[in-house]
Amino acid sequence: MKFIDEYRDASTIEIISQKIFEVTTHNWNIMEICGGQTHTIMKYNLESLLPHNVNLIHGPGCPVCVTPLQIIDKAIEIASRKDVIFTSYGDMLRVPGSKNDLLSIKANGSDVRIIYSPIDSVKIAEQNPVKQIVFLAIGFETTAPATAMAVRLAKQKELENYSILCAHVLVPPAIELLLSSPQNKVDGVLAAGHVCTVMGMKEYYQISNRYKVPIVITGFEPYDIMKGIYYAVLQLEQNKHEVENQYSRVVTNEGNTHAQKIMRDVFNVVDRNWRGIGLITNSGLELSESFSKFDAERIFFLENISTVESNMCISGEVLQGISKPIDCPAFGNQCNPEHPLGAPMVSSEGACAAYYQYKVQTANFNRQ
Ligand code: SF4
Repeated sequence: MKFIDEYRDASTIEIISQKIFEVTTHNWNIMEICGGQTHTIMKYNLESLLPHNVNLIHGPGCPVCVTPLQIIDKAIEIASRKDVIFTSYGDMLRVPGSKNDLLSIKANGSDVRIIYSPIDSVKIAEQNPVKQIVFLAIGFETTAPATAMAVRLAKQKELENYSILCAHVLVPPAIELLLSSPQNKVDGVLAAGHVCTVMGMKEYYQISNRYKVPIVITGFEPYDIMKGIYYAVLQLEQNKHEVENQYSRVVTNEGNTHAQKIMRDVFNVVDRNWRGIGLITNSGLELSESFSKFDAERIFFLENISTVESNMCISGEVLQGISKPIDCPAFGNQCNPEHPLGAPMVSSEGACAAYYQYKVQTANFNRQ
């Protein structure tokens, strides 16, 4: 296949659907890790093309959703300072903090800027030497290399007015935590193809073997996801638990070794709190000692911020695949994209936003 339309072609996807029906004899719970995959599932109503005994569980793979409320509140506090230009990817601006969000303080005069690359925040720092420039660094292994390059560039340029508020997280430790939970009901995993593009496949062999779970590295188009589900179900029906690469047009076993080296140079792996899930061992990145002067938390002394979560939001259960968004009593009522109570309703990759946007749609393939 060469063109995007081919990955969305209804007749091709219906053939894979038929194969899934043919091989499925048991009940299987398959978790797609990434929020981008969840959106494709909802947008194309892929669940309607699966046997009733293949159940999709939506995983925690939305970096905006799992960024702790404390980080959002710290970001808002830093961004409120008169001497700061605060930079962030756009999807963080509407994420509610305990009292407000970055967009509302921007509306009230704070200098909050949306950027598309961390390198842009370095350029802003060069252009504004009397201001402190802070970048809110969130995301999985997909965005961490770009953050690392920006920090390295700031060091090369000997910038004294640049820092990052670092909340990068790592996917494999979260998968391992979910699979080891007593509440776990996941039989097979669709791993996030873009994360594996950077990190390769090697981290997954041990997890698959330890928990006896097939892990299929999967892309983001309807074809990819249906193929990933087919591979996972086929393994389960054959009592196998292997790492399989559905996204081989992009992912290699080694991954992007150059990006991995930059990450190792700039970051240390640390334990990290995930919003709604809690502390996960070795699941976060912080700046290593040689780059620690660029750590916004050290520059702005933000240790004692206490946070208050909405008592209606069950995003923790949603992010762990224990509940679906429609199980939340606030879904579509008190909580909607205009007035989100939790991050999964704000983010473009959030499961609650996906359900809200697509729940009434029927299959919407590119029929030609
Ligand atoms: S629907 Fe809203 S309140 Fe409910 S879990 Fe999702 S984000 Fe939280």
